[in-house]
Amino acid sequence: MEYTKRALLVVDVQNDFCEHGAVPSLLGSQLASLISIFAQTNYNKYELLLASKDSHKSPKGHFSSSPDFLYSWPKHCLESSEGEKFHPNLNSSLFDHVITKGINSAGMSAFDGTTQLGESLLDLLERREIEVLDICGLNGEANLYNTAIDALEFGFPTTVFIDLSSGSSHAKVLEAFEDLQSRGANLTYAISEN
Ligand SMILES: [Zn+2]
Repeated sequence: MEYTKRALLVVDVQNDFCEHGAVPSLLGSQLASLISIFAQTNYNKYELLLASKDSHKSPKGHFSSSPDFLYSWPKHCLESSEGEKFHPNLNSSLFDHVITKGINSAGMSAFDGTTQLGESLLDLLERREIEVLDICGLNGEANLYNTAIDALEFGFPTTVFIDLSSGSSHAKVLEAFEDLQSRGANLTYAISEN
């Protein structure tokens, strides 16, 4: 069997997307632990382990004092703030690259971001000849959702791990994930079925 080059892309497991954060996802801190365990025990299945990060300075209309939680949000993940840091339960040392996005834009997809050296996510995936993407993480109905849509549009067979992902409510995540499935994403369990 030919070896398939996979990358794991963990979306926005940051303090502001966990409990007590500005835009909390359900069970964020627990998922941070589970994602760390999964990444640690499965790193040899992946060519690349990637973690994205929202990092805002002046993202224009992305912030609002009366947010609609669709296009505008309460202030979150301000550059160099506590809320912008990865949640301490996420073992960030496991990741080959951190993809930072949203300095002066909404940055709702990891594909809007770059590595520390300024390489775009797409360029990195192409350079490393990644064929398949596995995605999990937080802000499921927005940032994870948009990341998965971009992955599909760029032609990557894309799996979303539903047991390693969440958002602001079950209903919103369910709606987002059903939409991703209808666009061709594979929804599966990372841990429960192993
Ligand atoms: Zn944001």
